[in-house]
Amino acid sequence: MTIITILSVTFTLFFFSKQLVNALLHMDLLRFDVRKRLMFGVVYGVCGILIMFFGVPVSDHGIIDFRYFFIIIAAYYGGLHASILASVLIAGGRALLFGGLNEAAITAGAFILLLGVLSGIIFAYKRFGGYWAKWMVSLLVLMALLYGNSWFTYGLVWSSSRYKFLFPPMLASGLIVAYCVRYLTQRDELFQQKDQEATTDFLTQLANVRAFDAAFNRLFIQAESGKEPLALLFLDIDYFKKINDTYGHPAGDAVLRELAAIVRRTVRAEDVASRYGGEEFSILLPNCSPSGAYALAENLRSKIENCQIAVNDKQTVGVTVSIGIACYPEVEQEFLIDYADQALYQAKLSGRNKTILWRS
Ligand code: GH3
Ligand code: MG
Ligand code: MG
Repeated sequence: MTIITILSVTFTLFFFSKQLVNALLHMDLLRFDVRKRLMFGVVYGVCGILIMFFGVPVSDHGIIDFRYFFIIIAAYYGGLHASILASVLIAGGRALLFGGLNEAAITAGAFILLLGVLSGIIFAYKRFGGYWAKWMVSLLVLMALLYGNSWFTYGLVWSSSRYKFLFPPMLASGLIVAYCVRYLTQRDELFQQKDQEATTDFLTQLANVRAFDAAFNRLFIQAESGKEPLALLFLDIDYFKKINDTYGHPAGDAVLRELAAIVRRTVRAEDVASRYGGEEFSILLPNCSPSGAYALAENLRSKIENCQIAVNDKQTVGVTVSIGIACYPEVEQEFLIDYADQALYQAKLSGRNKTILWRS
């Protein structure tokens, strides 16, 4: 029963820290690998400190908690940097909050640090095997260190050590925690992957129509409330059917991919480029004036015009595009798509390889 209580506290802390980690990973600040690793160290180090407040007395065996599991979790997510940082925080937290910097705290700290180093190494190197093997080795290292610490501090022999009773449930708990960590991690990864697939065009990796719709609504609300302009571009490849007919469908696909890459390189970070239909792209330009949108469209159009795209090992083709633009607030939201499309149609009618800005 006692172990279940300790395990429940461990799960609760892990569950909420995972939400926190997911939110933090979206921060721009954490795009650097080392910072990410240190973030894991801080989060799981703090979890290790918090769990000490929920230590549970085990009859005759003192108070125990599973702070060590958070060092192994830090090692799993962030490698050596994270597990060492987590262990330093936990050792420091124990000394500062529970009993001061006495001899027992120093030796316990040294053993915890050793666990941080060893579990970090175990998770960093492939030769320790897969996920379960790494957890198993880390848990065995943990047991050896715990016993070593109590032997070093109290000179206990195994037969009178509390760990004789604690190790089996502790090992089982460690494996249950490992299961839980893997389950939640895989579920989050799967969710992200499906979310990405649901909003990305498979061929070009641009946003798909569903993501365009969501971005259109979001950017329009932003434009309206911030009294900012919003431009919409529709871009369609000229005589694309000819490329398919002459070089084949895979060549057409190669052109679409290359064009998408040019679009991605040309737009600003805040713009949303999507594949709107077969060979038609749309670009939303938040806080962009009609003249700014026109300049970007012309830049894009001339880049495409001056580019030769490889359609197979031997041949390259040149393509041109026609672009239609409509801008808010000159055009109301409900007509934006329609008028950008009409501007594109005019560009096609007036000879193609052109940009037309809708004017009411
Ligand atoms: P226009 O200048 O008037 O736009 O002429 P177009 O030939 O580009 O336009 P049309 O609408 O007649 O043809 C579009 C072609 O795009 C027809 C279709 O086979 C092709 N297409 C649509 N989606 C894909 C795709 O995913 N891959 C390839 N290779 N072709 C595609
Ligand atoms: Mg076309
Ligand atoms: Mg078309």
